[in-house]
Amino acid sequence: MKNISEIRSDFPILSEKVYGQPLVYFDNGATTQKPEIVINKLNEIYRKFNSNIHRGVHALSDMASEEYEAAREKVRSFINADKKEEVVFTPGSTGSINTIAFSFGEKFIHKDDEIIISTLEHHANIVPWQMLCERKGSKLKIIPVNDNGEILLDEYYKLLNRKTKIVAVTQVSNALGVKVPVKEIVEAAHSANIPVLIDGAQGIQHAGTDVKKEDFDFYVFSGHKIYGPAGIGVLYGKEKWLSEIPPYQGGGDMVENVTFEKTTYGSLPFKFEAGTTNFPSAIALGTAIDYVTLTGREYITELENDLLSYATNRLSAIEGLKIYGNSPDKISTISFLLDGIHMYDTGMVLDKLGIAVRTGTHCAQPVMERMGINGTVRVSMCFYNTREEVDALGEGIEKVIRMFE
Ligand code: PLP
Repeated sequence: MKNISEIRSDFPILSEKVYGQPLVYFDNGATTQKPEIVINKLNEIYRKFNSNIHRGVHALSDMASEEYEAAREKVRSFINADKKEEVVFTPGSTGSINTIAFSFGEKFIHKDDEIIISTLEHHANIVPWQMLCERKGSKLKIIPVNDNGEILLDEYYKLLNRKTKIVAVTQVSNALGVKVPVKEIVEAAHSANIPVLIDGAQGIQHAGTDVKKEDFDFYVFSGHKIYGPAGIGVLYGKEKWLSEIPPYQGGGDMVENVTFEKTTYGSLPFKFEAGTTNFPSAIALGTAIDYVTLTGREYITELENDLLSYATNRLSAIEGLKIYGNSPDKISTISFLLDGIHMYDTGMVLDKLGIAVRTGTHCAQPVMERMGINGTVRVSMCFYNTREEVDALGEGIEKVIRMFE
């Protein structure tokens, strides 16, 4: 196992300074930093074999296509999908959810049908379904949460009925860090033959997934949240669903045969990959997955759990600091507010100390409204963060309190 300084030296940005202070990066929920091998991979692609995939007969195109398909295989194995055909590259979690909201919606959702989501959702798992509801005259039903941001399963069970056509929930709340009981959600939906989409944008980084064991119908995530580049994401879908639903976008590479009279679509997964995809980022996502696998998922979880309990103890001890999302089942994210101090003031002072946190609604306005607040300061840690950084955060927060006293 690598020790923490070896891990940190894999990420060049972590030795940067901000306002002359060592960078403390606690905004991993928004995007993660990249290890050197991912940066080098992108460099290698553009220097050595950049060429459009699936197009040419020449050597460079072959190489790029092979690497792209090898990356798909890495994703398949990482999430334990049955087949490569079930792994579609998209621009990100948002792109993946829009694809399903459109394609599944076109085929299976009609007037008065119901779609279930939860109060915890990121806007990416709300708005595409609302747009679908507007198009089709269907209805959105919302699973409520308790004051700690935990899903109320009994309320969910009551929402399921003959009109429910799909359930789409996040694996983990991005705003509060609270995990969602996806196993129970899937079991109940499946007992009524209703498919489930899991938004793994946050879950993939901290908890990972086994789509086969968990029996997810659709699972989505973004490369940039798991140490890969931006602009690439994954849509996993069971073959039976992906082959039944129509493509989301039309264009090159997703077709079998085109005439002005009729076009036939390509096979899976290409049917959902219209146009030139972000193939360099897909390839580098494969490298990021190699990095996570080599580092060890269990080791990553161990480091992150240690940070979560250390930081929870440190921050809870600060008078006037209130944590939102107090649940025993969390990822290493802490959302908080300071009594009488605006979140933006907190975030801005911390920034001047070199500490990057996120402030605001975290693109999850409904859950903020449920908590009765306008937003929080979010500290999202990952395995390359340290206890010393948490100490710096604690001292920074105490400084904020002294300044605004
Ligand atoms: N879903 C969740 C839970 C998220 O946290 C995010 C991003 O923060 C998204 C979806 C959207 O991800 P992206 O912007 O990479 O498409």
